[in-house]
Amino acid sequence: MNLHEYQAKEVFSRFGIPVPSGAVARTPAEAVASAERLGGSTWVVKAQIHAGGRGKAGGVEVCRSPDAVGEVAGRLLGKRLKTHQTGPDGLPVHAVWVEQASDIGRELYLSLVVDRARECLSFIASAEGGMEIETVAASDPEKIVTVPLPPDPGVPAYVTRILGGAFRMESPQLSALASLLSGLERCLRESDASLIEINPLIVTRGGVLLALDAKVNLDDNALGRHATLAAMDDPSQRDPAEDEAARAGLNYVALDGEIACMVNGAGLAMATMDLIQLKGGRPANFLDVGGDATAARVTEAFRIFRANPRVRSIFVNIFGGIVRCDLIAEGIIAAFKEVAPGVPVIVQLEGTRAVEGRRMFAESRLPIETASGLARAAERAVRAAGGAA
Ligand code: GDP
Ligand code: MN
Repeated sequence: MNLHEYQAKEVFSRFGIPVPSGAVARTPAEAVASAERLGGSTWVVKAQIHAGGRGKAGGVEVCRSPDAVGEVAGRLLGKRLKTHQTGPDGLPVHAVWVEQASDIGRELYLSLVVDRARECLSFIASAEGGMEIETVAASDPEKIVTVPLPPDPGVPAYVTRILGGAFRMESPQLSALASLLSGLERCLRESDASLIEINPLIVTRGGVLLALDAKVNLDDNALGRHATLAAMDDPSQRDPAEDEAARAGLNYVALDGEIACMVNGAGLAMATMDLIQLKGGRPANFLDVGGDATAARVTEAFRIFRANPRVRSIFVNIFGGIVRCDLIAEGIIAAFKEVAPGVPVIVQLEGTRAVEGRRMFAESRLPIETASGLARAAERAVRAAGGAA
């Protein structure tokens, strides 16, 4: 689960990580009132979406009057914001964060991640933070340093010294850095976050360290012990099909291709997507219906496919090991009666009671194509979707 910047900054404050003062607003009038209440003469209005790249996409604006704050909020709220991280449709902006503008001296990059390769937590840092960090990573990777942490909680002094050096900080700033790093480490550990990223971490002209941006990814498997964080979930930032699928007990991941896939077993589902790709098509989703696929689940899967306007064909690939192919066939036939898919359906059944399953399709007289042989079935699905193969 991801947090919005405004939620992440609220969490940061609880761990003593310094952030600019600000307020969240859901209407332009609230944004104006927030600016007036915060005081000062310059504010920043920031669209709250679960994606970065907002600065380059008009989602972060510096304003010099409360009226200007209201105008920017009016332009952003209720619209979708598209950035290089969102995909073509963008994400809906239901809230803006209004904060007192900071007087930026330097923009640094700092993150703390669960580093799976090293089996520890690692800080990642660069003196060249800000909106061009991806370019720095690609062209000058030596400007980004990774500092692994030892297993015990806390941030040892030598880590602060390494990072202080990477940031080219003077000694008076090192104590502020030490406190920020230990706040960050506690925040990640105690929130069960998998990543916390501050880009930019700034040093103001006055020499103060501030987290100007905040990104937090939480481990979904640990949400059960974080009711306050779990309540910050914003489903509007996700593909609704993924939530519907989760409610129906389906393991579904939306992708951007044209061929909907329904497969039993995660490994077979991955192999099926590879095969589609190999034959020149693109999967519209990953879907593992599970080993105990019921008619209700199959119907729910068809409903999700139906709601996706990009889908041009449906490819069902079932290997009956524990699951019985005739039961799957029964489910698909029932699903058809409830939700006519409106696109060609190609079914590949193999294993337990596959012959019976194929016969049921033939007898149903529904427009379902049964193929024998996985490679041929994938070709049919790709061709039916108008692709190569
Ligand atoms: P992102 O583009 O989605 O990562 O959004 P950020 O929160 O990182 O903001 C993008 C950029 O806006 C930052 O790198 C800053 O250069 C600029 N910015 C954000 N807040 C302020 C501020 O308070 N003052 C000034 N001068 N610039 C800001
Ligand atoms: Mn940023």
